[in-house]
Amino acid sequence: GDFPIETDTLVIGAGPGGYVAAIRAAQLGQKVTIVEKGNLGGVCLNVGCIPSKALIAAGHRFEHAKHSEDMGIIAENVTVDFSKVQEFKNGVVNKLTGGVEGLLKGNKVDIVKGEAYFVDSETVRVMDENSAQTYKFKNAILATGSRPIEIPGFKFSERVINSTGALALKEVPKKLVVIGGGYIGTELGTAFANFGTEVTFVEAADEILAGFEKQMSSLVKRNLKKKGNVEIYTKAMAKGVEETANGVQVTFEVGGESKVIDADYVLVTVGRRPNTDELGLEQVGVKMTDRGLIEIDNQTRTSVSNIFAIGDIVTGPPLAHKASYEGKIAAEVIAGEPAEIDYLGIPAVVFSEPELASVGYTEAQAKEEGLAVKASKFPFAANGRALALNAAEGFLKLITRKEDGVVVGAQIAGPSASDMIAELGLAIEAGVTAEDIALTIHAHPTLGEITMEAAEVAIGSPIHIV
Ligand code: FAD
Repeated sequence: GDFPIETDTLVIGAGPGGYVAAIRAAQLGQKVTIVEKGNLGGVCLNVGCIPSKALIAAGHRFEHAKHSEDMGIIAENVTVDFSKVQEFKNGVVNKLTGGVEGLLKGNKVDIVKGEAYFVDSETVRVMDENSAQTYKFKNAILATGSRPIEIPGFKFSERVINSTGALALKEVPKKLVVIGGGYIGTELGTAFANFGTEVTFVEAADEILAGFEKQMSSLVKRNLKKKGNVEIYTKAMAKGVEETANGVQVTFEVGGESKVIDADYVLVTVGRRPNTDELGLEQVGVKMTDRGLIEIDNQTRTSVSNIFAIGDIVTGPPLAHKASYEGKIAAEVIAGEPAEIDYLGIPAVVFSEPELASVGYTEAQAKEEGLAVKASKFPFAANGRALALNAAEGFLKLITRKEDGVVVGAQIAGPSASDMIAELGLAIEAGVTAEDIALTIHAHPTLGEITMEAAEVAIGSPIHIV
């Protein structure tokens, strides 16, 4: 037996949930230890949000370089050096993960490499390749994240890949089948389509990006189809895959017919499962749902009072900013502050073409809950900046409460929707009314004016539409 090391707060997992929780706990005066078996930054920084956005941005640049004829730009012989694209992507990842290490150290958080396993509700054992160490803690924060789901008939291999494999491809595939048209599949499929890959989507639901309103997802679908090298099958069931000499043969069913497609790779993005099965949680009595998610209260506390859980392993949208938000709450609750989760202000964004973003209630959700709301729309096509950017497709929809005009939701489909949604998140958090937004002077010409104009529609006095 080794001598246990004592700490106040032990954080397991250094993704956007865990590293943020660790920093906030240290800021609040705790002695903090963070355990990570892989790389600092977790899925998001290493194989998720950040590398995918780097590939998407590079794909856009290539597509725009080739096709800006509308703006009078004719470029010939535009080519891609994909190993350089990968270098660019890896450079961004390394800068950020190095930054996380610096931030943890700067806040005097003790970083431990290895895999944590619970012994009891105050003790964790951390195993590294050739060593083991016991830690005793007062409170623990679980932030072990999630991993891709494997479906029957599609065992992951060099050719049957998940998002991690897709982000690491060494060349641009000629043909790619994407199973699952959720945001991860749509984003990665679009990026490769922009690099020139023939992409076939196979989605079981009626629509790709089924979590968003049809008015929004149909814009994305239309743009994908316009590319000429993308096919989308909805209500389609993936059946199986066979590996060929240098690729795959994918079988799926659509409209009662069986189809077979040859491709270089098949990317399976049908969801993620929580990493809660190999932590020894049964020994400690932490309650879980039948899907393996950890049950928490509105302060992120599990059924064991000194153990907290955040991020992809608990309910709610599996998103990085949601994990970080919960991480701060867990640290604050441990420090005795009265923090609580409120999911209403958590935005969801897809980096598709156009970008989609939503925060708070949709019109339909408000109706379901019996909340009387008004929906006010303003099109990007009536905005000068959007036209000057040659990106005037989409709309902003503002959802306000009928009784007092308070903003309770917003949906945006359009260029920079991902950035524009922040103002509306603030509106929800601060209880701002449509009138407040309409009275706020937005610089001209900017996409931000779209938000102001939708607010003017809400109060009945829009200037730029009739
Ligand atoms: P993770 O980031 O999964 O981190 C968990 C960490 O815990 C990992 O580093 C793991 O190694 C470690 N760990 C697990 N078990 C142990 C153990 N026993 N001991 C020690 N360490 C352990 N979200 C967005 O908000 N925006 C996006 O644009 C976006 N894009 C994405 C794109 C892709 C391709 C993918 C796959 C995901 C994307 N996500 C995005 C989702 C986002 O990555 C996750 O929601 C987020 O990473 C969850 O954070 P987390 O802290 O809960 O867990």
